[in-house]
This record gives sequence, structure tokens and C-alpha cells, in this order.
Amino acid sequence: MIEGSKTESIMNRKLRMGMVGGGPGAFIGEVHRKAARMDGMIELVAGAFDIDPQKSREMGHQQNLNPDRVYDTFQDMVEKEKALSENERIDFVSITTPNNWHFPIAKAFLEAGFHVICEKPMTMDVKEARALKEIVKKTGRVFSLQHNYTGYPMVKQARDMVKNGMLGKVQKIVVEYPQDWLLTRIEATGQMQAAWRTDPKQAGAGGCLGDIGTHAENLAHYITGLEIEELCADLTSFVEGRPLDDDVNILLHYNNGARGVLHSSQISTGQENNLNIRVWGTEGALQWFQENPNYLYYFQQGKPVQIYRRGNDYLCDAAKRATRIPPGHPEAFLEAFSNIYKNATDTMRAKIAGKEPSELELDFPTVDDGLEGMLFIETAVASSKSDKKWTKMLK
Ligand code: NAD
Repeated sequence: MIEGSKTESIMNRKLRMGMVGGGPGAFIGEVHRKAARMDGMIELVAGAFDIDPQKSREMGHQQNLNPDRVYDTFQDMVEKEKALSENERIDFVSITTPNNWHFPIAKAFLEAGFHVICEKPMTMDVKEARALKEIVKKTGRVFSLQHNYTGYPMVKQARDMVKNGMLGKVQKIVVEYPQDWLLTRIEATGQMQAAWRTDPKQAGAGGCLGDIGTHAENLAHYITGLEIEELCADLTSFVEGRPLDDDVNILLHYNNGARGVLHSSQISTGQENNLNIRVWGTEGALQWFQENPNYLYYFQQGKPVQIYRRGNDYLCDAAKRATRIPPGHPEAFLEAFSNIYKNATDTMRAKIAGKEPSELELDFPTVDDGLEGMLFIETAVASSKSDKKWTKMLK
């Protein structure tokens, strides 16, 4: 319904964004709003921002939205937006609710003809993920998953260096994502972000595993292109009374014979958002730390270390496209978030205009990454419960 003869105008106008989630006090919704605005090509025009309709209206007011476009529920939003004229209705929706809502909301908007940007983990389980993949295929809409760490320029550079053979054959990957904010049972105090993340009915089968373990899994896959063949997982819930894991240790076998270690934790005292990855190949090695994201380290045995730095001409096209300011002025989380928005919405524009998106525009996480993440969660949970431990990755 959105496609049509609007080639000229779609290239020159802002895309109209709607949002579900991101009410007052929410974490990631505001990050999405800032990231979407960054390049001046997206405008927030509608939303069902909160599970509480009153708070949804509060956020709509804060965002200066037309009250007619602020809805009590996502169902109401789908129906009313669909009924608006083509020149008025949203082009896409961003889903920033807890995990249990991702599937029904994505399904409703896709089936109504809207493009979707969705938070991770994509769904509650593999069954929903497979169903969503089918819906994306059937509707032909753009679906982007917010694995934002793949939006960093130096991560794109790392991927390019692996692709171009600078590491030789990848033999070992160590990817870590430790935090400490769930060291105590803060969910019992009603802390909003902790409350749903530690509840299997809202978070799914993985706690720390689904929340940040999937980012680590996706980052390793994005950089190396490798698939996990089997894994051996040890998931622990250290905090008493917490039904989901808060610490994750996994050994990995990749499809080219490479070995991996993935560790994520939310009880590691002193760690803030220490996502980092090291990749070793037969000819060279790479190292990237999210808390110092403008620098990528490249090693060759017996040679001095080389440091690749954001913003320089020698970087690959994908890294340069993902950069807004000159070298030495740090870019980080918001910009990387915005890079996912840029590529996903440029792809939407191309689609609306009836054009083929370029390879650079198509560089964003998709429904396939989302399904892979859900397969990873279910395999790791099964492995952790089994006595046999080594478990083939679900396909
Ligand atoms: P949050 O608890 O801070 O906010 C959730 C918001 O969604 C609240 O405003 C709540 O009222 C609203 N909501 C819940 N159900 C709703 C519904 N049916 N309709 C409309 N609004 C509804 O949660 P958060 O920390 O912002 O996390 C939200 C999502 O983002 C989760 O899936 C999480 O995994 C993901 N996340 C991703 C990243 C990242 O780096 N990519 C970081 C944080 C969170």
C-alpha cells in the first residue's frame, strides 16, 4: 500500500516514524528518538508510548505531537494510522517495548503495510521468530533489528578486514559482554528495567543471555561471517530468587572449525558496558572494545601493533559511510544507533521509490539475525540444562 509513484518526493522528504514503547522513564525509546533525528531525515509523528495510556499521552505531549496521533494502544495505532492518507500516515514503526510485545506489534504493523525497526531479542522464542520471518517475506516490508553494535564504524572496518583475508583463516573468537547492574535483586524494588528483564513471561527463556548475550553472538557473527555449529553453555542465576540467568559462559564451535568463548554477565562488579571482541586468524588478529569504540587494533605475529582510527580515509566504505565527524572527535553509542536507522531507512526509501537498495544501504541487522539470536538462546538454555552439554545449534 505504501509503494507507488512517489519516487521524487520520497527522496526529498523526511520519513514519518511511529513508536511503540518509550514512555516516561523508559530507557531505549529515547535513544531511538535521538538516533532517528540525528541526520534530519526522520520525523516522529505518532506513537503508543506506554502500556499506561495516560503516560502515552504524557510522552506525546513532551514530544510535541498532534494529540490525534497519540494512541492508547498499538492496536488502535495500527488501525488509525492505516486509515490516514498516504501523505500523512507513518512510513515505519519503531518497537521499543519489553520482549514479550515485539512479535504481536511487529506482526500487526507489517501486515498493515508498514516497515518495522524492532528491538532485540526479536521475539520470545524460536516459534515466533520463524513466524515473523515468514510475515516479513510475505509482506515484503523492511524489517530491521536493533543490534546497534554492528553500527560502529570500526566494527564495519573489522568485518571488512576479515572479509579481505587480513586475518587469514579465523581460528579463535573471544567475545565478552560483562555488566554489573543486576548484582543485587533490584527487581524487587520495582526498578522498571530490571523488573521485566528478570521475568520469563516478559523477557523469554534468556535473562542476561537474551539481553546482552545475543548482542555478543551477533557481533561475532557480523565481524567474522561464521555460524555457530554447536555450543556448550553454563548459565547461572547467582541472585537468589531470580528465575533467569544473570551470568553466561559458553564455549562455541564454528562452522569453519574455529573455536569461540562467549561470556556475558550482569553481576560482574565494576563492569559497565564492557562489550569487547578479539578474533585470531592464521595471518593476523583484531581487537575492539565498545567502551573505546573509535579504535580497532590489528596484530600480526612479530610486528608492531597497528591501530585503525575512525574518520580516516584508509577505512572501508561502510566505515566511512558510518562516520559523521572528523577523526579525533569521538563518536559512539548514539551515532552507531543512528547508523542502523540510516541504512534501514535508506533501504525503506529505495523500496518506496521502487529502486534496488545498494549493498551499503542493506548493511543492517535483519529478521535472519533475529531468528539466529533466538536459536542461539534456545540452544544455550537446552545445553545448560543437559548433562551432555555440547549441543548442536538448532536450525
Ligand atoms: P523499559 O522498561 O525502560 O521501557 C519499556 C517501555 O515500553 C515502557 O515505557 C512501557 O510502558 C512500554 N510498553 C510496554 N508494553 C507496551 C505496550 N504493549 N504498548 C506500548 N508501550 C508498552 O525497557 P527498555 O530498557 O527501554 O527495553 C525495551 C526493549 O529494548 C527491550 O526489548 C530491550 O531488550 C531492548 N533494549 C535494547 C538495547 C540495545 O542496546 N539495543 C538497550 C536496552 C534495551
